[in-house]
Amino acid sequence: MADLTLDEARKEVASLRDKLDQWADAYYTKDAPEVEDNVYDQKYQRLVELEQQFPQLVTQDSITQRVGGQVDSEFTKVTHRVPMLSMGDVFSKEELQEFDARVQKQVGHPVAYNVELKIDGLSINLEYTDGKLTQASTRGNGRVGEDVTANARFIADIPQTLPEKLTTEVRGECYMGKEAFAKLNSERDENGEAVFANPRNAAAGSLRQLDANITKHRNLSTFIYTWVNPPAEIKGQHQAVDKMASLGFHTNQTGKKLSSMDEIFAFIDEYTTKRDGLPYGIDGIVLKVDDLSLQNELGNTVKIPRWEIAYKFPPEEQATVVHEIKWTVGRTGVVTPTAIMDPVQLAGTTVSHAVLHNADLLQQKDVRIGDTVMLHKAGDIIPEISEVVMSKRPQNSVPYPIPTECPSCGEKLIHLKDEVALRCVNPSCPAQIEEGITHFASRPAMNIDGLGPKIVRQLITNGLVHNVADLYHLQAGDLAKLDHFKDKSINNLLTAINNSKKNSVELLLTGLGIDHVGSKAAHLIAQKFKNMTKIMEADVQDVAAIDTIGMTIAESLTTYFAQAEVVELVKRLEDSGLNMEYLGESAEQVQEIPDNYFKNKTVVLTGTLSHFTRSEFTQKLQSLGAKVTGSVSSKTDYVIYGKDAGSKYAKAQKLGVPLLTEEEAIAQVK
Ligand code: NAD
Repeated sequence: MADLTLDEARKEVASLRDKLDQWADAYYTKDAPEVEDNVYDQKYQRLVELEQQFPQLVTQDSITQRVGGQVDSEFTKVTHRVPMLSMGDVFSKEELQEFDARVQKQVGHPVAYNVELKIDGLSINLEYTDGKLTQASTRGNGRVGEDVTANARFIADIPQTLPEKLTTEVRGECYMGKEAFAKLNSERDENGEAVFANPRNAAAGSLRQLDANITKHRNLSTFIYTWVNPPAEIKGQHQAVDKMASLGFHTNQTGKKLSSMDEIFAFIDEYTTKRDGLPYGIDGIVLKVDDLSLQNELGNTVKIPRWEIAYKFPPEEQATVVHEIKWTVGRTGVVTPTAIMDPVQLAGTTVSHAVLHNADLLQQKDVRIGDTVMLHKAGDIIPEISEVVMSKRPQNSVPYPIPTECPSCGEKLIHLKDEVALRCVNPSCPAQIEEGITHFASRPAMNIDGLGPKIVRQLITNGLVHNVADLYHLQAGDLAKLDHFKDKSINNLLTAINNSKKNSVELLLTGLGIDHVGSKAAHLIAQKFKNMTKIMEADVQDVAAIDTIGMTIAESLTTYFAQAEVVELVKRLEDSGLNMEYLGESAEQVQEIPDNYFKNKTVVLTGTLSHFTRSEFTQKLQSLGAKVTGSVSSKTDYVIYGKDAGSKYAKAQKLGVPLLTEEEAIAQVK
């Protein structure tokens, strides 16, 4: 850089600013980043270096001199009384030491820091008047944010009322937990909608919604960490977090007040190891000078406070080789490519598959068989190909051909209007039938215990079942043809199928697997129309008039029931004795659950489970009649804990709630 002329530097600065502005707009305003964070960070650092070398090139509107975001014009604007700034970041422990040296030099003595996890979400500002939530806003451009009050009312852990009549302002991070993120993305994938790149963007895209009802269904959470105007008795950041917790705010309890760099480095090392097991994404560690009066003394630059800094974790990436691209057909006919690669260890698990989401993305990334690719985990969870290592591309490599025919039935694939997904629209496609029947039998739908994908596949390949109505004609002799099916398992499955006939109609509606009609929508529709005949006769406007149901769902439902073969299918189900009525709010209890250890108990899961995923175990417990909740209280009957259990474990101990190891719980489940 030393040899750059001013002119050359000016050109490079202009081009960097163009690029960074474009990426920042995609990231902050559209919630759909165009590049990985580390690519953005590298270019940003380069701009900082050039501006330091050539201070005459610094302009007020440079991204280095302002908070990155913008305010979407569709939202009502909120002017922040105290600006919401960005944060300086460093990428090594040496740079942290330099930061500490700068702080010490300015205040003239060593300081203690409150060391906190850097939560991967977006900041939210909450204002309370006389103890009532009156305003919630995003950071926006730091001075002016977007009004998201209606949305914040649907975030369960944001207190709407405080125990004291305080008029005050707090800030924190709004985030989407890893489980909620994975669920949201798999639903979007299945519906042919674009998936969110990471939990940060999913949280931002879910909070920044003009229709707050969308936020309601997105399962957002918060960690509150800043008290903008604390009462005089609050002297430090650590104390502020504790007091905010006692006011009912959801705070992250892992923060520690530490005085030595050795302790801080040990904290960083601890969470570098633990981060994969946390139920939310973190992208670094934040150091905040604990003493609030010292924070004041240190002050801010135009963009960042001088008293805090983020240590960013290095991106975890691994190189591996792609040896196959597999296409799978989902329940709704969406055809998805998955890269099959040599297995590698990545962020705590062995990874050999990476979903490429859709054909367009595969083409964009130009992934080919034999390519060496860099893999990372989006939002710490989902393996994704960041890029192809072009220098290692085999010489004879050719672009991967996008299929034109369904890999299961051979029918021509199509791109539906406004969709990125490639779809097979053949209603008799075997792969779709298999996925459809498995979905029909799943817990949120007809809940036929024991009818999982392996059995469904066998039923189809043995020609015993062609659609869901055939399930109700199965005989013991049919099931005897399946692998490992003996008297007891035959009897259990036939009983489960028979029991499902009594289900309330919304479970059947969910089970039919209509595009965009998930269990929540099915429930609302059944509640309104009361029985299947009325649901099938409903017109688009009547359906769309239901609160929280939009045109997409309404159109999908009415188009589905306009098909003659669907009418025929429902008739066959009715003739087989299936209940077609809405049984009311008690419908959940229609299926008699035999007595067991967890029936009617309130259970909390915590820590990293090693035998099941959290959602599998939750489903299992729910199918036994347990209520699985997220927080421990005196009403909790059991806390089941895995590795690295933290605050919930401690709270259970404090309240005397019985604790079960994962293995002990499994023993009771069997
Ligand atoms: P930042 O996100 O790196 O850090 C500041 C934010 O951290 C705060 O606003 C707050 O919301 C959050 N935070 C989380 N935990 C916190 C805690 N315990 N205490 C205080 N704050 C906490 O900074 P930024 O200016 O918002 O964004 C810059 C970063 O965003 C870049 O480093 C880059 O990684 C990413 N980015 C990526 C792209 C892209 O295209 N991929 C574009 C723009 C920005």
